[in-house]
Amino acid sequence: MAEKPTMTTWTIIKILDWTKQYFADKGLENPRLDAEVLLCAVLQCQRIKLYVDFERPLTAVELATYKAYVQRRAQHEPLAYILGHREFMRNDFKVTEATLVPRPETELLVESLTKAAPYLKPEGEVKILDIGTGSGAIIVSLLDYLPKAKGVGVDISVEALIVAKENAETIGVKERCGFVRSDVFSRLPIEKKFDIIVSNPPYIPAADIATLAKDVQREPRTALDGGADGLDFYRRIIAEAGEHMEEEGLLAFEVGIHQSEAVAQLCREAGFVATAIRKDYAGIGRMVFAVKGKGKETDYADLLLAATRA
Ligand code: SAM
Ligand code: GLN
Repeated sequence: MAEKPTMTTWTIIKILDWTKQYFADKGLENPRLDAEVLLCAVLQCQRIKLYVDFERPLTAVELATYKAYVQRRAQHEPLAYILGHREFMRNDFKVTEATLVPRPETELLVESLTKAAPYLKPEGEVKILDIGTGSGAIIVSLLDYLPKAKGVGVDISVEALIVAKENAETIGVKERCGFVRSDVFSRLPIEKKFDIIVSNPPYIPAADIATLAKDVQREPRTALDGGADGLDFYRRIIAEAGEHMEEEGLLAFEVGIHQSEAVAQLCREAGFVATAIRKDYAGIGRMVFAVKGKGKETDYADLLLAATRA
């Protein structure tokens, strides 16, 4: 009589090794890490625990959940969408397919602004507008770090705004943060002036989107597409920002590669008195700051820009 074939017992080590190879074949950049992170989500444990329990077999339910995650990741769905959240600054943000996954570079922008804010309002009551708020990563983090600040986040996407509101509530800044569906400034009353206007707008040149990593292409096109040269949103925001700002206000942008000089130039052409460019960890000009500062001494603008040095 033929022997009954033995079923493979999927232990932690076995399934991680298998997934690593599978993900590598699918062209994922960090196959082992992705496999570990997904398995941790299923087992609800820290990564270190996987190493302690290498020989632990998975139950049928765990295996089924894990396999579903693996199939999604193999199709280059971003990890953050599968897990439903992403760490940003000191908080965990809910993310969905309607929101960009917040990036580490954007944390530098938030850090710079937490440093500059006391120069604008020594008492701390700084008013901040975030254009294209997405998951709310920027405005919610700023309000979390600046306990007396008040903010508004705008986005064209209703779905994104729902997520941003939820994050504001979970992170405890809901009372100080409004959200408005608006095409850039279109729904913002001109009477309301802000000390800081910040934006990480869509900045990828339209024709480049098809060349981006598959993971990035799974993110909403409305969060990425910056028009023919990628600068459409900077032009629109810079043209109107001045009239929505206090006289000593600060405009702050994240920009894409090779865009910082052009964006700084647009700011100066629009009458901002001083600009500064800051680099990210890779040495790429990633942030542009511009001071409205009309009628103020230039020392003030210099001080303010120096304060943005993270
Ligand atoms: N601020 C978030 C972050 O840094 O993670 C998301 C930034 S994402 C690059 C750009 C955001 O701008 C998206 O959420 C997108 O929906 C929004 N957006 C696109 N077009 C817009 C428009 N015309 N008016 C307002 N927001 C817009
Ligand atoms: N940082 C994103 C990327 O390069 C782009 C986001 C944006 O357009 N602001 O993948």
